[in-house]
Amino acid sequence: MFINQISLQNYRNYEHIQLDSFSPVNLFIGQNAQGKTNLIEALFVLALSKSHRTNKDKELISFGADNARIACEAEKKYGNVKLELNFSSRGKKAKINGLEQRKLSDFIGTINAVMFAPEDLEIVKGSPGVRRRFLDMEIGQVQPSYLYHLQQYQKVLVQRNNYLKQSWSAGSKDATMLDIWNEQLVEHGVKIVRKRKQFIHKLQGWAENIHMGITGGKEKLVLSYVPSFGGVEEEDEAVLFEQFMIKLSQVKEQEYRRGATLAGPHRDDLTFHINGNEAAVFGSQGQQRTTALSLKLAEIELIHEEIGEYPILLLDDVLSELDPYRQTQLIETFQNKVQTFITATGIESINAGRLKEAQIFHVHQGHVEK
Ligand code: ATP
Ligand code: MG
Repeated sequence: MFINQISLQNYRNYEHIQLDSFSPVNLFIGQNAQGKTNLIEALFVLALSKSHRTNKDKELISFGADNARIACEAEKKYGNVKLELNFSSRGKKAKINGLEQRKLSDFIGTINAVMFAPEDLEIVKGSPGVRRRFLDMEIGQVQPSYLYHLQQYQKVLVQRNNYLKQSWSAGSKDATMLDIWNEQLVEHGVKIVRKRKQFIHKLQGWAENIHMGITGGKEKLVLSYVPSFGGVEEEDEAVLFEQFMIKLSQVKEQEYRRGATLAGPHRDDLTFHINGNEAAVFGSQGQQRTTALSLKLAEIELIHEEIGEYPILLLDDVLSELDPYRQTQLIETFQNKVQTFITATGIESINAGRLKEAQIFHVHQGHVEK
């Protein structure tokens, strides 16, 4: 896919801009705090309907404004498409080719984007919540039904937790009530776990190869799902259903005491091992960064495999952080096949000479010039 145009209104530090004549490779150059990240964040938001930096849509609206609008025109394999998102205090509205979408899940994934930013290091070394968010966002953009189950699961989870807390303070336990919540929790939970395991399995294939390439054949990267119930490899829904139910019955008393749901996809994790050692614990900074890079490059290929088209690639401040060899690996991965948007504080900090067909944009205080 190829982005031809983007326009922003009252979005972060942009009052009103429209940009077009994009190239396969686009460089946004500017000093700190000028709006470089904001710009590529907008492209990410158009793909996933939310930011990679925040869950609070309100933060996207310019200070003092009531609503924000971002729109783009993209060329896809099967034709052109116009996307529009409006954010206000009442929520967000999404349009495809001028038609308002009732369900956001119909909008998400119309264009696909892979973002690689310095904070992605946290996927490797941060808390399990960061990795779950990574899984949820990436699976959601290629499989809208995943988002439906995730939403339903989260709804049931809140209600179930409220019920557990109330029971604790009232000193009573209503077994039928808990059974009802369990049914719903397990129904959606099993779908989430199954899709996550399948995604990791596919990502593993790509990530292992890419990581081997980047490390000159020295490092074998292995991704594994760490479930809070059942076996690591199990993908059969009926078996998972049973395993989740058994786990819930085992932790029931503890759940009443703690007033919280103690098993399910909201407690699961993902680990990375390099040559058998856990990257979060034993990996050097460079190994962790390379792991994050391999993951992102693997995602590009996975999206291509799933939808038959390459996503756009957004590189925020990362090129300058990589050594020349890794820079070259990265550039060779996207060059000539993936439209890429890169931010940097200076053209000299990145290997710009290697970038073919690059268009340079200068970003200064919410204004962009070619
Ligand atoms: P750096 O090189 O430091 O990463 P950048 O060019 O990527 O800088 P951005 O993250 O895009 O900078 O942010 C630019 C400016 O946008 C910041 O000064 C920030 O305060 C401002 N900003 C963020 N959110 C809003 C908002 N909702 N309304 C107005 N301005 C905002
Ligand atoms: Mg930035």
